[in-house]
Amino acid sequence: MLGGESDSGGAIHRALMGGEERVIDGFMGTILWPGSDEYLMAATAYGRVGSPSLVARPVSAADVAAAIAYARAEGLTLSVRSGGHSPMNTNDGGMVLDLSRIREVEVLDNNRVRLGSGAVWGTVAQELQPYDLAVSSGDTYTVGVGGLTLGGGIGWLVRQQGLAIDSLLSAEVVLTSGAIVTASEASEPELFWALRGGGGNFGVVTRFTFQAHPLRGVVAGTIHVQPTDLAGTLRGWRDVMRASPELLNSTVLATPEFGPEMPAQARVLVCFGGADLAEAMMAIRPLLALSGVTGDDVELKLFVEVFDEPSAPPGSIRIVDRNGFATDFDDGLIARLTTAQASFGDAVLMVRYLRGAFNRVPADATAFAHRDAEAFVSSAAFLPPDAPDEEEQRILDAWSFVAEKLTGTYGNFRLRAEPDVLSLMYPPATAARLQMAKRRYDPENVLAHNLNIVPWAHPLPPAY
Ligand SMILES: Cc1cc2nc3c(=O)[nH]c(=O)nc-3n(C[C@H](O)[C@H](O)[C@H](O)COP(=O)(O)OP(=O)(O)OC[C@H]3O[C@@H](n4cnc5c(N)ncnc54)[C@H](O)[C@@H]3O)c2cc1C
Repeated sequence: MLGGESDSGGAIHRALMGGEERVIDGFMGTILWPGSDEYLMAATAYGRVGSPSLVARPVSAADVAAAIAYARAEGLTLSVRSGGHSPMNTNDGGMVLDLSRIREVEVLDNNRVRLGSGAVWGTVAQELQPYDLAVSSGDTYTVGVGGLTLGGGIGWLVRQQGLAIDSLLSAEVVLTSGAIVTASEASEPELFWALRGGGGNFGVVTRFTFQAHPLRGVVAGTIHVQPTDLAGTLRGWRDVMRASPELLNSTVLATPEFGPEMPAQARVLVCFGGADLAEAMMAIRPLLALSGVTGDDVELKLFVEVFDEPSAPPGSIRIVDRNGFATDFDDGLIARLTTAQASFGDAVLMVRYLRGAFNRVPADATAFAHRDAEAFVSSAAFLPPDAPDEEEQRILDAWSFVAEKLTGTYGNFRLRAEPDVLSLMYPPATAARLQMAKRRYDPENVLAHNLNIVPWAHPLPPAY
């Protein structure tokens, strides 16, 4: 068989010039071979078209173990994919392990929920709605449970619930040895620590069990602000947020002009995590009174309705992205940020307010360590594909002036494994502990196609 899809019926088959060869017993999922539309979709990561030799879609942890064993035996690069929102989840000539068929959303006792790694967060919100439950995740419908959780998860309820990992109770993990283990505070606690911010370095997670939180609805929407005084908007927004209750979550988003239909915009996005409209409006009203506000669509809605679905950037754009955490989102930082942003040309700026439950988790309790931040700042500049490298360097130089006032970086928002990423993501003590965990759980670095923590090098090297 060449091209198409095969239900494996207990084996991974290798396509050989019209024939089939049985390679591994025990795989009950689906294999996609080059040539089908579905293969192409599963082989395409966010903005990057890959050409793996096959895509394996397991239906169980045992399947995942079989697929890993196959990739190891064949010497294939292994890319793990849950929701598919990272450009790092595909490769050329290797295997994509696509968890999209492991996507159940189950409500257990005591408001615990078990989520398949391949579920997407919009579906999770939808399924939990009838139970008046929610887990803070991200802001986008189709972002996957797997990738977002393993990197941390900064979502619309971050001030009241913390990161997604702060509600994680346990995970079912397939180690590269083939062992299937449960990671929690009580079982494999070091693995559990590493999974919460250490990315896909330690094993393939098939299921996550979260403590969900009661939530009947939210008061949410967009406040439109004139884009002419971004510094003033940011200062005013910050002052309001500092005095606001933790139920109020907010992000400032400044976008450039995208053609005559979409002029440059500044927006304050809000999500009050509760269904009491009067209480919510008391918290939101000072934001509606910010200078330059031109309108809003803030209203009571279901949590699932706050999820957005921005389209993927066209492959023809070169994106220069950077981000970091602000311990103190002070006037000096705002001045640097807006000066740099103005010099970038076409660029999106996003600032998320974090103060609250996010800060109450000790820095060493999870592999995500940047717990003293007041705000998360992220910028992405858009260049034409043929822009000279000096243009990218000019943007990075301007950003370095901002970065002096920031700490760390959020790996989930980095599009490429650039040399500075790991040392920014992890303070030295966290990095050293992660490397010990890597040596223990994936000593041969089978899971290397990610923001890679290399087991054998010391000190932690830059990413490849
Ligand atoms: C439009 C958009 C909006 C976003 N919004 C937010 C947001 O609001 N908040 C936020 O925190 N992040 C956000 N992100 C970033 C997002 O968290 C990361 O891109 C994340 O990696 C996506 O997870 P995924 O499962 O969809 O990605 P995938 O591409 O499937 O996975 C990303 C990587 O994670 C690893 N991985 C995934 N699943 C597993 C698994 N089960 N076991 C082991 N390793 C695994 C792999 O290394 C893989 O390459 C956003 C990204 C995009 C593109």
